[in-house]
Amino acid sequence: MNYKKIIFVFIALSIISFFIFIVTSNKNNSESNSCLSLTFDDGYKNHYETVVPLLKKYNFTATFFIPTNHYKFGSDWLLNKSDIEELIFLGHEIGSHSISHPYLTNISYDELYKEVVISKKTLDEDFNISVKSFAFPYSDYNKDVLNFVNKN
Ligand SMILES: [Zn+2]
Repeated sequence: MNYKKIIFVFIALSIISFFIFIVTSNKNNSESNSCLSLTFDDGYKNHYETVVPLLKKYNFTATFFIPTNHYKFGSDWLLNKSDIEELIFLGHEIGSHSISHPYLTNISYDELYKEVVISKKTLDEDFNISVKSFAFPYSDYNKDVLNFVNKN
């Protein structure tokens, strides 16, 4: 399976999960205090083209975790700065997902500092926001990385 097919499958699964949530939430009106967080990682263009219209249709917002290098040095299949500005305008949250999407348990303290602290600062400055969320690339973390992210 090539990279584009993997992305397509990921998007398709995201959309299916989204509709399962819609159906479930309509059947369980008695559980109106339920909470669900919708998050999308890595800043793929498909998120903007496919997911955002659905979120808009159902008046939902989500959190988009974006590595800063993805929009800084983008490509046709990644969100650009203008796309991200539109997400913010529509009320979605932008979270940090590092600078270069490394395995955080395999890098030095100086690199960890850059990936966690500088990525947040970059997003804050580039989009005039205050980033409050961080998603670990590859869900890779240990106790030291978790403590560092919590402190910063
Ligand atoms: Zn990721």
